[in-house]
Amino acid sequence: MIKRQIISVTGRVQGVGFRPAVYRIARSLGLSGVVYNDTKGVTIELQGPQEQIAEFLARLQSGPDKPPLVEIKSCLVSDIPLVEGEDQFTIMPSDSRGQPLSQVTADMAVCRDCLAEMADKKDFRYGYPFINCTNCGPRYSIVRNIPYDRPNTTMSAFKMCEQCAAQYADVADRRFHAQPVACPACGPKVQLLDNNGRAIAAGTEQVIAEAARFLRAGKIVAIKGIGGFHLAVDALNEPAVRRLRERKRRDHKPFAMMADSIETIKKYAIVDEQAERLLRSPQSPIVLLLKKANAAIAPSVAEGVNTYGFMLCYAPLHYLLFANGIEVLVATSGNLSDEPLICRNEAALERLADVADAFVMHDRQIHRQVDDSIVHLVDDEPVLLRRARGYVPTPIFTELLCRHDIFAAGSDLKNTFCFAKDSQLICSEHIGDLEDAQVYHHYIASVAHLGKLFEVRPEVVACDLHPAYLSSSYAHSIPNVRIVEVQHHWAHVASVLAEHELQGPVIGLVCDGTGYGTDGAIWGCECLIASLEKFERFGHLAYYDLAGGDKASKEATRPLLSLLRKAYGREFTLHKFDWLLKRIDDEPNNKSEIANRKSQILLEQLEKGINCVRTSSLGRVFDAVAAMLGLGCYNHFDAQLPMILESVAAEGVEQYYDFELISRADEPLQLDLSVMFKQLIADLHRGQDRSVISAKFHSSLAAALLAMAKAARDSTKLNDVALSGGVFCNRYLANRLIKLLKKAGFCVSFNRNVPSNDGGISLGQAAVAARLVGGEPSLLP
Ligand SMILES: [Zn+2]
Ligand SMILES: [Zn+2]
Repeated sequence: MIKRQIISVTGRVQGVGFRPAVYRIARSLGLSGVVYNDTKGVTIELQGPQEQIAEFLARLQSGPDKPPLVEIKSCLVSDIPLVEGEDQFTIMPSDSRGQPLSQVTADMAVCRDCLAEMADKKDFRYGYPFINCTNCGPRYSIVRNIPYDRPNTTMSAFKMCEQCAAQYADVADRRFHAQPVACPACGPKVQLLDNNGRAIAAGTEQVIAEAARFLRAGKIVAIKGIGGFHLAVDALNEPAVRRLRERKRRDHKPFAMMADSIETIKKYAIVDEQAERLLRSPQSPIVLLLKKANAAIAPSVAEGVNTYGFMLCYAPLHYLLFANGIEVLVATSGNLSDEPLICRNEAALERLADVADAFVMHDRQIHRQVDDSIVHLVDDEPVLLRRARGYVPTPIFTELLCRHDIFAAGSDLKNTFCFAKDSQLICSEHIGDLEDAQVYHHYIASVAHLGKLFEVRPEVVACDLHPAYLSSSYAHSIPNVRIVEVQHHWAHVASVLAEHELQGPVIGLVCDGTGYGTDGAIWGCECLIASLEKFERFGHLAYYDLAGGDKASKEATRPLLSLLRKAYGREFTLHKFDWLLKRIDDEPNNKSEIANRKSQILLEQLEKGINCVRTSSLGRVFDAVAAMLGLGCYNHFDAQLPMILESVAAEGVEQYYDFELISRADEPLQLDLSVMFKQLIADLHRGQDRSVISAKFHSSLAAALLAMAKAARDSTKLNDVALSGGVFCNRYLANRLIKLLKKAGFCVSFNRNVPSNDGGISLGQAAVAARLVGGEPSLLP
């Protein structure tokens, strides 16, 4: 029977070669009809025998005809009247039937087909470092404006040769409408420069061979990739890695590494099936993997942690370099300390002249710098720790229909921002810490750029409650918008709700460093009964005082003294705890006398309440425990001490310390860890191994949070738990708590597509604003 059916497809279906694939399948089955992009995805109208249409649907959703980047989320089919006299299948221009959803897709790692061509001597792109096709290559990083057509990308500088142009125009070709298509005759070229900007090799082959020789000799080479420059150095060469640390002014933070095969990565780290899938994915993120014992990687690559961050080569250029006798490279962001990633050639030569010995450059401009994304596995599922290259600007879809465009300003640390438009939540790439002036400047420019690409005109602006946040003051400075302030930890819970398309209410367990609370205190470890509409504070970690503002998040002695004072009350004296405080080398070469003096001043400050804030921060509790175990007492980068504490925790320890849940009338439930501290100190006294103490500490927190969730369930009859907050970047705690909650019958959701740290805040803010404003009849158009 001849039928006509209309098929609405949603998911990642725009800008990924979906319409040409539809065209090819329809043609091969002799079906007529049309395909076009629409505001939700792609619409297909098909006419022909019913069996052929059924086969079309089967081939579209799986098998070799589905382009690799396509991800179909839903596929709705319904019958419509036949169209008389139609005899062909056509791709219609997008805009004839309404605005397409989004035109810009994320940058994708080079595909297998392109790699095969690059290795094929008979192919006209043999050995070409910028080979790409519809299934791979740069996108977001090269777009200047919309629509996403070649003249609006940085490829506009290159005129396609006949061969490339023919492929670009051929709907049957893998390069049909691949905007960055190029070849050695017409496309970008690679160069090798010294740090004075002088060319030191000519021709692609020489440039690559010479750059590889530099790397093999332990030199530092800045390599221009897809989203910016990497600083690369031989990861097996300890003096070379140390030199990079000194020059980059990055003392402690682990470096990421790159290799050209899974087999190489497996020599140094544990790669299970799920991790391998992630490493090989088109997004090609850095994946955190457990270190193998006795791996030959230079120790200074990742000291004090039990994981390595590895990624596979993702630009064709990387593969060419590795083919010249390179095993594994450190590949860290090309910048100095916490400045934005460098993406322009001139800026690289200027800023990195004292860091890199040579520069591998090219003349394809990067318009948007995009860092490498970072992923790890929690409860056997991938969780993003930094969402950037490969993932941005892919929107997160919501059931909510935003009646007004929304801008969510995010948090000040690990900033991302987010737009809400129609049913899309569009999160920016990782921007960084806004307190750096350059990062702040980059933030403002990024808001404008992403807003332009998605044609967003915000009428509603969401931001954090914190009066001193730069992101909040930026939000308040935008004229003629309605401001929605969203409490930090509510935004964390809302980010989970948004990702999983939940409305709530849920029991939100947020384990975090710090965020401004509605009572003016610094909140951190919170149990919120939250929906996208409102929240109520059900419980929290009992307040303790933190002396010294910002210093308190770096120096572990500050929370430690306060927590001890809280646990022991009047019994606490410096003299009594001298043995413990002595373990804590406050600063290198510090005489314990000075440390003592400092402790005394701090204690006085706490007693008199000078420059103190009340806090329920959990991050600082980790700092205090790490310090007591002699693991260090200063966070050189965010969460350094908690990471070290996690990495020493022994597996298979089932005991934990006691804790108390204190319930008082008209107050939230309070989690008091005083008993835990006393028992932990008794363990230290006994000389218990710190790997066991760390494990017991983690388990105590998991048990305490479970108890909190159970109390919330008893009181509210809710059974859904949402986990978020920076502390859940701790895999040991997250895995343990998820297991306990599931065993107790809870339905558990946690962040996967956005980080659970402050990088996910903007998504939560946007979702709350969308719900609040969307639900207000007075604001309806
Ligand atoms: Zn390709
Ligand atoms: Zn060409």
